[in-house]
Amino acid sequence: MRTRRRLLVANWKMTRTPSAAAALARALVAIPRPLEVDLVIAPSFPALDRVGAALSGTGIALAAQDVYVEKEGAFTGEVSASMLKDAGVALVLVGHSERRLLRGEREPDFARKMERLAEQGLTPVYCVGETRAERDAGRTVDVLRNQLAALDGFSAPPPGLTLAYEPVWAIGTSLPATPSMAADVHARLRAEIAARFGPGAAALTRILYGGSVSLASAPGLFAEAEVDGGLVGGASLVAKDVMALLAAAAAPTTGAARA
Ligand code: PEP
Repeated sequence: MRTRRRLLVANWKMTRTPSAAAALARALVAIPRPLEVDLVIAPSFPALDRVGAALSGTGIALAAQDVYVEKEGAFTGEVSASMLKDAGVALVLVGHSERRLLRGEREPDFARKMERLAEQGLTPVYCVGETRAERDAGRTVDVLRNQLAALDGFSAPPPGLTLAYEPVWAIGTSLPATPSMAADVHARLRAEIAARFGPGAAALTRILYGGSVSLASAPGLFAEAEVDGGLVGGASLVAKDVMALLAAAAAPTTGAARA
């Protein structure tokens, strides 16, 4: 029996205006979905309010794609954890490779973001993953361990801590990791969480796979017991495709737990 509920997080990135995002959210709500999988939508900041209204009372949770490192003050253009909480957000992406690459954000930034979220009781979806060059050099485990250093300041896991293993080489490329690659890395990540916070916390931590999850790749990836669901970009932009991904996540696992 699974100890963790499966989870699908739809990362809509900077692809939908608030009206288009609200329409997509309403389309999602209108289709029956398997209730054994949690669904979370992460639209852009300006769309949070309208998407939140569309999701209200449906059991589908709202996520933000980022948060600022400070609590409050003269930080033009930034958004605080308390603002997100007030807007109805429950989860927040932290450490996405696009922010590492495009904004130069690093572990100390992610640590501060997760602290701000913890103060508000919001759940971080902390994204980690290696580049192609790092994998080819055999450095995947070291890279992930360094990325998990963003948790060094926590003596207990941040509320609801969720990890997303997102190999950078797989994001938006149509070339996902194989199910066994993902399962191996997830088992490593779970062992790292166990070393930090104990086996009980590790058993509760959901570890999502992200990177070119598609209708074709999802069934194999989600069949792995170590893969607790997905963080999905491109394939999360069509309502009926999201339903197919949820169905794949709801199917029984075939791969054995490796941790
Ligand atoms: C992502 O950016 O989080 C992601 C997984 O994108 P895609 O599914 O499009 O590869």
